[in-house]
Amino acid sequence: MLRNHKKPMARAATTLVAFLSSVSLVLAQTNITAPPNKYTPADDVKMGSDAAREVEQQLPLMRDSQVETYVRNLGARLVESIPPEFQHPEFRYSFKVVNVRDINAFALPGGPMYVNRGMIEAASTEGEVVGVMAHEMSHVMLRHGTAQATKATPYEVGSIAGQILGAIIGGGLGQVVSAGSQFGFGTAFLRFSREYERQADILGSHLMARAGYDPRDMANMFKTIEKTSGNGGPQFLSDHPNPSNRYQYINDEARMLNVSNAIHDSRAFSNVKAYLRSLPPAPTTEQVQRSGNRRSTSSRNPGNGYPGNNQIGRVDPPSARFQTYDEGGLFRISVPANWQELPDNTVVTFAPAGGYGNYQGQSVFTHGLEIGVDRNETHDLRAATDELITSLSQSNPRLRGRASYNSISVAGRNGLHTVLSNVSDATGRPEQIELFTTQLNDGSLFYAIGVAPSDEFGTYQRVFNQAVRSIQLNDNYRNSRY
Ligand SMILES: [Zn+2]
Repeated sequence: MLRNHKKPMARAATTLVAFLSSVSLVLAQTNITAPPNKYTPADDVKMGSDAAREVEQQLPLMRDSQVETYVRNLGARLVESIPPEFQHPEFRYSFKVVNVRDINAFALPGGPMYVNRGMIEAASTEGEVVGVMAHEMSHVMLRHGTAQATKATPYEVGSIAGQILGAIIGGGLGQVVSAGSQFGFGTAFLRFSREYERQADILGSHLMARAGYDPRDMANMFKTIEKTSGNGGPQFLSDHPNPSNRYQYINDEARMLNVSNAIHDSRAFSNVKAYLRSLPPAPTTEQVQRSGNRRSTSSRNPGNGYPGNNQIGRVDPPSARFQTYDEGGLFRISVPANWQELPDNTVVTFAPAGGYGNYQGQSVFTHGLEIGVDRNETHDLRAATDELITSLSQSNPRLRGRASYNSISVAGRNGLHTVLSNVSDATGRPEQIELFTTQLNDGSLFYAIGVAPSDEFGTYQRVFNQAVRSIQLNDNYRNSRY
């Protein structure tokens, strides 16, 4: 739509007028550009479909034609409305409903989208459901998952595939899907940044408007999600952190888009809502996770955990001889020669035989040292360390401690050190956890976590300290590679 808010200029300025009017067109909606990405759209499709296979093994899909058809139709309407510049011909959008109560939805690179039943139940209009779907779809269109991995992979800690999967799926679901190590699956590493959230909100608004919906419904749904968040917030908000002024800028965008006669509601929506109310309530994701983990103890593909068929059991004392590992260029460390290097999803663990294994579908270790990098937005050592401990205690509910930090030096940089206590899920024994952190040049948190049973901690504490003193960091190495 062209707005004629200026007096016509002299004839000689025709080109200038044309230029100005194209500017005013651009101003009529906020311009969004996809972030830098070193992957190809085909990579998105491959990673997304691998992750989708995992997701569908772990989460209960709703196999119900009424609900499925409804959500698929909404999705199809959005797909038809994708602006040409964001169309990736390789992408295959699909829309499925997960039979869980939590208010959440997520989309994988290349197109597979999952909407929780709880999201539909919490929405008060069809526009609100469409709003969340448009937001999720915008993450896909902007290729945020692989853009995030582009940012993450310069520090190649652990296997890249696991890191990407984790980065893409994020949060609690990342834990379900990639069955990451018991420690260090820092949620800070996995969340989308607030800037990506803002992009998905704005592009999602455009998508809604093009599909005949009112973006204000998206803003309303975010309010609903926030209201029901209570303690800790629903997963949606931890995977999609609220940018400031979210409600305001979506409403501003809606005004610029000038949507008229928008669809807010439909008969199909109220039918589906009434139908869902008639069904037995859905379980929470946590309940599914718990029962799923039990089931997976016997059936889980060992390729998802530590390599080989290791059992937690008797552990030889740490060898006095140390061996040095060069970890993909980012760091070097010396650890007892009888410890093995266990690359896992987002971390590297050094542990002795008998001191690590797969327990209830999770990689766990009872003796050893884990090294990882946790991306964070704070760029403050203490705040980032706090955040890491918070995420550790989410996956380890019996974790206690953090009375204070000691200032230490890690690889010649300012670092923090603290000791925490925990009870091992795998053995039921009390254990001590020693945490060492410092910062990389880009503000990421570099950490080492030592774990040992409390009654052996004296021996292991000396080993952890010696190993951490040997760490050398080289976070400039990537400049020569990328
Ligand atoms: Zn988001």
